[in-house]
Amino acid sequence: RKNVRKPCSGQNIKVFVRCRPMNSQEKVARAQELVECQGGKNIVVKERPLDKFTKTFSFDKVFGADSKQLDVYKCVAKPLVDEVLNGFNCTIFAYGQTGTGKTFTMEGERTENCTSWQEDPLAGVIPRCVNHLFDELRIQKLEFTMRVSFLELYNEELFDLLSAQDDLSRLRLYEDSSRKGSCIIQGLEEVLVRSKNDVYNVIEKGSAKRQTAATLMNAHSSRSHTVFTVTVHIKENTLDGDELLKTGKLHLVDLAGSENIGRSGAVDKRAREAGNINQSLLTLGRVITSLVEQAPHVPYRESKLTRLLQDALGGKTKTSIIATISPASTNLEETLSTLDYAHRAK
Ligand code: ADP
Ligand code: MG
Repeated sequence: RKNVRKPCSGQNIKVFVRCRPMNSQEKVARAQELVECQGGKNIVVKERPLDKFTKTFSFDKVFGADSKQLDVYKCVAKPLVDEVLNGFNCTIFAYGQTGTGKTFTMEGERTENCTSWQEDPLAGVIPRCVNHLFDELRIQKLEFTMRVSFLELYNEELFDLLSAQDDLSRLRLYEDSSRKGSCIIQGLEEVLVRSKNDVYNVIEKGSAKRQTAATLMNAHSSRSHTVFTVTVHIKENTLDGDELLKTGKLHLVDLAGSENIGRSGAVDKRAREAGNINQSLLTLGRVITSLVEQAPHVPYRESKLTRLLQDALGGKTKTSIIATISPASTNLEETLSTLDYAHRAK
């Protein structure tokens, strides 16, 4: 029996860890460096000099403080982009404490004096994915359209980072009655992009809008999620001359800071008392645990984030999580919390 289908299982979910370098604040505070990345898959958290505390975790791959944007892209994202080209939906998440490199990893930064984003070594996962999609579609001489959307989720409300209006007006999310398990976001701008440069402009515009919102509202950017989605429609001619339309979708998600999720995976007591409950982050953890454990019920409907990602999370779709951490002793508790959370997804 060759065609026995494998059950949907956790093997479609991969988990990576990226540790950033010590920052100047941590150095000034004379924090110790506690995190060691070993042999590609293991990460050791150790309190020195007495090693009174040592804990080892293993993941699909760990990226140390000297890892390059290109390494992360090649290992984590490129395999998923290739799935998207074959007409599948995929999701990549950046999860971690505020200040550990989620946005650095997903969007990246600009090197001073580097005029071309395409050659910028600091470019993150998002621009690199888009570059690769364009390159592959052109090499294969395929007829295609590519659209991108960029939204922010704050306090269980959706905002369009690409809308032409200056204000951040709320978007409504509802079920797509024609496709079970899919959602439609009413009024979401889906920008047609014709070149790599079009996409860079879109990313910059969206990031600028997010920045504005962040300065208007305290702690906004650490509590909000952003979802950058690329949708490709590819026209293919089959051998018997029929036309086939393939659709692939890639969600690139920069999650809210994980600092209100405790080590048990539930909302931390202090955060709960402060009314700081991030329903989407909490539900995402439960959805991923349910998928890994192959539970009969997956609670997609319990948050906006998991509802809008439902068609790209679980089943045949592939998901990668990049957990970002700080190496410093001053962040030990948060680091362990992030590693525990990420490890549960394995
Ligand atoms: P987050 O989005 O998780 O809050 P950021 O991406 O804004 O964190 O990163 C915080 C700071 O750390 C930024 O100044 C960024 O340049 C720096 N940083 C993060 N990750 C790295 C890394 N891997 N290498 C070098 N600098 C990094
Ligand atoms: Mg950020």
